[in-house]
Amino acid sequence: MRLTRAKISLLLKEMPLDQEVLVKGWVRTKRGSKNVAFIALNDGSTIHNLQIVADPNTIGEETLKKVTSGACIAVKGKLAASQGHGQKIELPADEIEILGEADPETYPLQPKKHSFEFLREIAHLRPRTSTFGAIYRIRHAMTFAIHQFFNERGFYNVHTPIITASDAEGAGEMFQVTTLDLNQPPRNEEGEIDFKQDFFAKPTNLTVSGQLEGELAAMGLGEIYTFGPTFRAENSNTSRHLAEFWMVEPEMAFYELKDNMDLAESFLKYLVQYALDHCADDLEFLNNRALDEEKNKKKEEKSEMTLLERLNFIVSNDFARVTYTEAINVLRNSKPNKKKKFQYLIEDWGADLQSEHERFLVEKHFKRPVILYNYPKSIKAFYMRQNDGEEPGKETVAAMDVLFPGIGEIIGGSQREERHDRLIARMEEADIPQEEMWWYLDTRKFGTTPHSGFGLGFERLLLFVTGMGNIRDVIPFPRTPENAEF
Ligand code: ATP
Ligand code: MN
Repeated sequence: MRLTRAKISLLLKEMPLDQEVLVKGWVRTKRGSKNVAFIALNDGSTIHNLQIVADPNTIGEETLKKVTSGACIAVKGKLAASQGHGQKIELPADEIEILGEADPETYPLQPKKHSFEFLREIAHLRPRTSTFGAIYRIRHAMTFAIHQFFNERGFYNVHTPIITASDAEGAGEMFQVTTLDLNQPPRNEEGEIDFKQDFFAKPTNLTVSGQLEGELAAMGLGEIYTFGPTFRAENSNTSRHLAEFWMVEPEMAFYELKDNMDLAESFLKYLVQYALDHCADDLEFLNNRALDEEKNKKKEEKSEMTLLERLNFIVSNDFARVTYTEAINVLRNSKPNKKKKFQYLIEDWGADLQSEHERFLVEKHFKRPVILYNYPKSIKAFYMRQNDGEEPGKETVAAMDVLFPGIGEIIGGSQREERHDRLIARMEEADIPQEEMWWYLDTRKFGTTPHSGFGLGFERLLLFVTGMGNIRDVIPFPRTPENAEF
């Protein structure tokens, strides 16, 4: 009878003692003596390794020599209760097959702690480390939970385009998409590049957001969400920005700003709770890893809560809801503002908030997630709904940003301007070409209604849930300025 491969996660859960099993995986470590070798085997199905016990007389010296860190092997044997500490079961090997050797002289992943910087350089191999295994499993679980959350609530997943001809989204610098020969682009009579000869007969870019198309779908389907890659050519080399990242964008007909905030808060709590419920082993590993790192930190840099405490805190506390105007007053009178500790001092109403201000509000002042709303019109996008009855110079829009500890902005959203005349006026003010946006404006001409939506940066969520410090470490193959390897 041919044995089918069993996943290590299943064996550790069900512990079918004395049964013959076949496992396959990558060797993490091998230790032991002349008489017996202990092999830690991992197949990616769980953070935990299966301990393989190999007797050189049974397996053969030659084969055992090839069992080195990074090698891929198949093992047959009968599961046994473990005598050693640290594991309940182990697999005494009857047979080991070497599927793929890994030359110890050149295999870059040694069984020791590597820096994240180094692991980024070998991003093709980092899925084999405990930390990145945990992160990618959590990334998967969060993807699944996002679809589940919306599906449970009757939202439809809409696929919005990746290539777009509108550059009006105004969310940052875009990457151009072209098939023109850049060495010899065709030119028109004025000597300008003739995009009529380009693939789409006009200039096109990679999308920065699926929102505008998401709105179109919501104005017929009711409640929708997009979950796709977005691209921003902003040259911000920070630990929270990628050039290619994934965004979740729900868009809801009949929702006003408060409904939007309620949805955002319950969405984030649901996702964090899902991670606590379904990723316990991986989170425990990351929690301990972070505790280890804390030991090397200076006192003022130490976190007040552990990763698990932070996650539990989020699900069990209400987010603070604060208007921009209230926030400006708090910031203006804050210690770091008075002592000129902020890089950007807050003086006047209308100032854009930097991440240092966002983090002060969340981490020092309110000590919980904060939803900031009703921002000055002048610092927000044209499609946000203009609030009525405000004094000239202090006009606001129904925008809301969700700010998280350690992250800053995790969600940005708003109630959308549904009034045709007000939208046109705002577009004129902001110099947004209306001809290109005729389809967007049509939704305000035909059957318009209040509606709202927001964008969650998926990697920002993962930063929070995994407790990682750099956004390059929560996406398998990060794209950042001057880096598109792998
Ligand atoms: P920030 O001010 O932090 O640069 P933003 O205001 O440009 O963000 P939005 O346009 O509101 O961001 O995008 C919605 C969400 O997408 C943000 O709340 C954030 O979570 C995420 N996000 C934005 N830019 C990036 C980026 N370059 N890399 C990763 N996530 C991003
Ligand atoms: Mn924003």
